[in-house]
Formats: sequence, C-alpha cells, structure tokens
Amino acid sequence: TSFGFEAVKEGDKQPRVNHVFHQVADRYDVMNDLMSGGMHRLWKDAFVAWLNPPQRPRATPFKLLDVAGGTGDISFRVIERSRKNAHSTVFDINGSMLDVGRDRAKDNGLNAYLDFVEGNAEDLPFEDNSFDAYTIAYGIRNVPRIDKALSEAHRVLKRGGRFMCLEFSNVEMPVLDKVYDAFSFHAIPKIGDFVTGDAESYSYLVESIRKFPNKTRFKAMIEDAGFRQVSYRSMSGGITAMHSGWKL
Ligand code: SAM
Repeated sequence: TSFGFEAVKEGDKQPRVNHVFHQVADRYDVMNDLMSGGMHRLWKDAFVAWLNPPQRPRATPFKLLDVAGGTGDISFRVIERSRKNAHSTVFDINGSMLDVGRDRAKDNGLNAYLDFVEGNAEDLPFEDNSFDAYTIAYGIRNVPRIDKALSEAHRVLKRGGRFMCLEFSNVEMPVLDKVYDAFSFHAIPKIGDFVTGDAESYSYLVESIRKFPNKTRFKAMIEDAGFRQVSYRSMSGGITAMHSGWKL
C-alpha cells in the first residue's frame, strides 16, 4: 500500500513529522489510548520497569534524558517509580508537545523533578558524560538520521549509563501480523481523521513504522554507536519492542 509518502527524502522528513505533532499535540494522549486500546500504557510501564531507576535517595539524583519525550509519559513514570529520586529532562523538537507536558506536570505535581528542553535528537545541546540514562519512546522512527541520534545518545551518557528505546516493531506471529496490518493501514488513518481531521499525517506514521528496521538490525545499529550488552525484549507478539544497551 502506498500513501504517496514512499518518496519522502531524508531532508523532507523532519518538517512532515513536526507538522504531525503540532497538529495532534492537544489530542496526542487521547489518540494514544484510542489507537492502542490503552496498550501503550502497559508497554510504557514495562519499559520503565526494565529501566528500573534507583528507588532510594542518592548523593545526586538519577539523571534521565527523555528524548522525543513529548507530553512526558516516560518521565512521569520514571519519577514515580524512583519514588521521586530521579530528575528528568524532557527533550523534544516540538514546542507544542512540550507545552502539553508542562501543563500535565503542573497538574500531577511533578514539575520540581522535570525540566523541558526543545531541540533535535540528532544534535543534543548537552555536555559529554552527563546523564545516567537516556530513553527514547516511540520517537526514534521519526528521526531522519537514526545513526546520529544514537551517537549523540552515547556521547551524553556517563560511563555506566544506559540507553533504552521503546518502539513499534515487526509482528512475529502469524495471523496477528495480518490483523495488525489491516488495522494499521485502514483503521489508524480513519481514527486519526476522525479525531484530528488529518488522515494523511497518520498514514505517514504508519509508513514510518513499516520502514523501521527489525529488532536484530536495530540492535546492530545500537552496537555500531558504541553500546555494549545490547539486548531487546519483544511485547505483544512483536507489535512493540524495547532495546537496551550500556555505555561501558
Ligand atoms: N515519548 C512520548 C511518548 O511515548 O508518549 C512521545 C512520543 S511521540 C510518538 C514522538 C515524539 O518525537 C514527538 O513529540 C515528536 O515531536 C518527537 N520528535 C520527532 N523528531 C524528533 C527529533 N528529531 N528530535 C527530538 N524529538 C523528535
């Protein structure tokens, strides 16, 4: 199936992605629930459980950089799971998404543990060796040059720091793969159209999922960026996967 986005070149990709998330920012959280049937909450919980941030006070708080952090879902979970012994920088290229995140942080009383920074994952405005963990959830497939984002992740992590990525992936179960394809190619643009009036943007997102490297290829890309002990876990028949690697 083609939605006319096949020929999107690297240079055209970021403006298109930015348009999608400017469009949906205020409805982003409800869209996630609708499109995943609430499953994204469980995937994010499992992701943060695997990260397992320290839950006791330390001399300096556990420092997380949550790239493509959007409206803050991963950061809020990490702070809660750490019993407020973590600090997170929510980093995103899109000011509209960060605005929603700031409002949510005020509402849930976690803003003392967060800051919000706007910028590009391919070129992080942070010093070398400055974070204990780097997370990117449902963000890396939107980044035009994934290798640049990965090498920046490696650069800003401390030695002993951990890289973790949560992303959609290739479905490995017969039948489920067909159901999933039908759902994503037909239902997702329709739901997107219904809630945001913008089916095209959602077709583009479905395309970006289909084009994203499979689990073993993505693992090799993480290793190429210099990470060690890279491993992954598949969830829900492979619909989504999480990868982990260490800067040693
Ligand atoms: N991590 C959040 C979550 O799991 O709910 C948000 C994920 S949302 C699907 C993808 C986010 O990636 C958007 O907020 C978008 O603005 C951001 N993004 C896209 N390209 C980016 C880039 N080059 N650098 C930083 N963020 C980017």
